[in-house]
Amino acid sequence: MTLGREKICFLNAPTPLERLHNLSEELGVNFYLKRDDLTNFGTGGNKLRKLEYLVKDAQNQGATMLLTVGGAQTNHGRLTAAAAAKYSMRSAIVAVDPYPGEISANLLLDGIMGCSVYLVKPQEGRPDGELQEEAVKRVTEEWEEKGEKVYFIPTGGSNELGSLGYYDCAVELAAQVRSLGLKDTRVVTTVGSMGTYMGLQVGIKNEKLPLHLTGIGILPFKEGIVNAAEAYYDRIRQFFDLDLNITAEEYDLISDYDCGGYNNPVEEVRKAIYLMGRKEGIILDPCYTGKTFAGILKMIETGRIEKGEDIVMIHTGGVPGIYTKHHRIEMERELEDFIHIVSL
Ligand SMILES: *Cc1c(COP(=O)(O)O)cnc(C)c1O
Repeated sequence: MTLGREKICFLNAPTPLERLHNLSEELGVNFYLKRDDLTNFGTGGNKLRKLEYLVKDAQNQGATMLLTVGGAQTNHGRLTAAAAAKYSMRSAIVAVDPYPGEISANLLLDGIMGCSVYLVKPQEGRPDGELQEEAVKRVTEEWEEKGEKVYFIPTGGSNELGSLGYYDCAVELAAQVRSLGLKDTRVVTTVGSMGTYMGLQVGIKNEKLPLHLTGIGILPFKEGIVNAAEAYYDRIRQFFDLDLNITAEEYDLISDYDCGGYNNPVEEVRKAIYLMGRKEGIILDPCYTGKTFAGILKMIETGRIEKGEDIVMIHTGGVPGIYTKHHRIEMERELEDFIHIVSL
């Protein structure tokens, strides 16, 4: 229960906070990873924390079906499908995607978990958002005619309620950091639809936790990343009637490492993924966590993160993204040399 809202506690929390010894030595910082990728079902990831609140709200409203939206590779869709399966609800995802394109690993997992996936062809002269909205309306009507009560979850589960999952994570993480005796800890998270960052930030400020949050944007924010944060926080403040002011300067949000696109193949992101794999045996994804780690590496290289700093990166999951065709093609080409043909 946070800010007066109930959740279903289905998470294996607290998730581990691990010191990465080899990387710490390599990079000259004290590097910890918060393993939200190890959350307990649907192959794990950050959206499960948001869904603890969202599924509870859906149940309170008597919903029988969860409907969400996202890109064709949506991790959030996968975890919504997983939560729906666990709580005996139907699920559906609407994605604007030029089918027949690639069936991402996430969409395959959605099918395995019994989710209905609706792909909408992009149209010239009509924004994707408008197409998505129209499709959501139609799919909702179709299912409600069949007797389902549909609960809609926006992109990434990033509304007011969903952000509370990461408010709770901030409290959980502060306790772990305290028990390790760390001070002045910098927490670094990925920023996509921003619910993760915003939940952490509101939790840190409202609970006065001794953590400094840095958010790394992994897609271009047209309106500016800090403006987006301020608009989101306005909604949160109203929704929960919060008596907390957050100034623009308090948002440490960085858009220098978005690599100019969303889920685009980028060589330095892949290099960051290989570094994590080779030093720690931990897999990052090319869309979110790999890009964030590449940003952290750049920040250390340029002195934006200082040597000796205590930093916690949140591993938000997304590992199925590795199997996405346009990333795999590049990785298979770069890693060609690791296959050795033995002729006996
Ligand atoms: C959705 C997602 C994020 C970004 O979280 P937001 O709350 O949307 O900002 C980061 N990492 C992974 C793996 C995700 O699926």
